[in-house]
Amino acid sequence: MASHIDSTENEELNFVYPQKSDAELQNAYYVLKMLSNPLIVSFSSQLALFALRIHLPIGFAIKHTIFKHFCGGETLKESRVAIDKLGESGIGTTLDYSVESTDSEAFFNSTMHEILDAIAYVKENPLVNNLAIKPTGLVSERLLQKTAKGIALGEREKARFVAGVGRIDQICKAGAEMGIEVYIDAEGSEDQDAIDEIAVAMMSKYNSEIAVVFTTLQMYRTDRLSYLDTLVAKAQEEGFKIGVKLVRGAYWERESAKEKNIVFEVKSDTDEAFNKALDTCIDHIDHFAICNATHNEESTRYLTKIMDEKGIAKDDNRIHFSQLYGMSDHISYTLASAGYNVTKYLPYGKVKQVIPYLIRRAQENSSIAGQMSREMAMIAEARRRAKQSPNS
Ligand SMILES: Cc1cc2nc3c(=O)[nH]c(=O)nc-3n(C[C@H](O)[C@H](O)[C@H](O)COP(=O)(O)OP(=O)(O)OC[C@H]3O[C@@H](n4cnc5c(N)ncnc54)[C@H](O)[C@@H]3O)c2cc1C
Repeated sequence: MASHIDSTENEELNFVYPQKSDAELQNAYYVLKMLSNPLIVSFSSQLALFALRIHLPIGFAIKHTIFKHFCGGETLKESRVAIDKLGESGIGTTLDYSVESTDSEAFFNSTMHEILDAIAYVKENPLVNNLAIKPTGLVSERLLQKTAKGIALGEREKARFVAGVGRIDQICKAGAEMGIEVYIDAEGSEDQDAIDEIAVAMMSKYNSEIAVVFTTLQMYRTDRLSYLDTLVAKAQEEGFKIGVKLVRGAYWERESAKEKNIVFEVKSDTDEAFNKALDTCIDHIDHFAICNATHNEESTRYLTKIMDEKGIAKDDNRIHFSQLYGMSDHISYTLASAGYNVTKYLPYGKVKQVIPYLIRRAQENSSIAGQMSREMAMIAEARRRAKQSPNS
């Protein structure tokens, strides 16, 4: 159950770690402790990829440690336990069929069918709010990159690309018909121009009344504030709603190492751009639906503050907060307890296919040492409190 905080209108959020069983706290503590060591993360990431390549059966070990911490399960059915548990504390779920695999039409088609099944599942399950899609799970990354660079596609490539966009369209159409939001994730900058075009085409097609399709803006990119202004102008001119998920961005190390670097080099510049994007969205809220997707306490507080200043209700259905499952529970549970709309991004899929996602989470958690040691300290304190409690 979530810890309750006093949430009078103007009070600043005081993030509190939620009550959990000792077994849950212990698993969370040991997984985060392991990830706080960059050497262990680097070694285990390479080991996991190597073991997969030579078909070593490492699934069992991963499934009961890091997978259990960051994922709902291998199937929707297995994910139900996590969904129900979050729901008990007023936290919704964003389903994320998080498989990453080969450049094959068979794989893309099976991903699409899984996601269409997930949309039907969301419709049936009031504890699940929406779902996310990863474009490179549905359309060839090689072709996205060629398109982004303006390189002409051959006839067969063109047909494959059109089929890929068609798969994204089918998912957005099903979402629109059933009133289920579809978040289109952002990926590496080589893919992103093509993904942006697809996302805008889907928003303009399906977001006429409300935002059903959401694009994602990575605010570590130096061009995203001006891109957001372009989106506002386009939406006003063409009369559609913009769904936008704001993130800082998961690929900063890789992007900043590129010769043509399009990301901020100083963290505070990314932070500033993120909060300015929140300002733009709130200033134009009649044209927007927002997902504030962050583990950053200041950006979380900042949005609650500007919502309050503009007199926007905490549970306004155009505004959601979201954190990744297994990360920053103190933020999610505190927000839910205070009456905000909040979801956890819950990845699911076969262990083998989720490994690239897990490696990104491991790397992310080993590179945010400050925040993570705070989270570990909160978990240690929660364990200490639980041991002292007469009911434990
Ligand atoms: C619900 C949800 C959905 C997400 N979807 C996506 C997605 O579609 N695509 C995607 O790419 N990511 C996505 N992410 C991942 C997200 O990008 C990372 O979790 C996020 O970057 C971590 O930052 P933070 O906002 O939690 O804040 P913090 O932990 O405060 O910020 C860390 C981030 O700051 C940036 N940064 C780090 N060092 C520097 C530096 N020196 N200069 C400039 N910037 C720096 C990086 O982006 C780094 O990840 C998602 C996250 C959530 C919570």
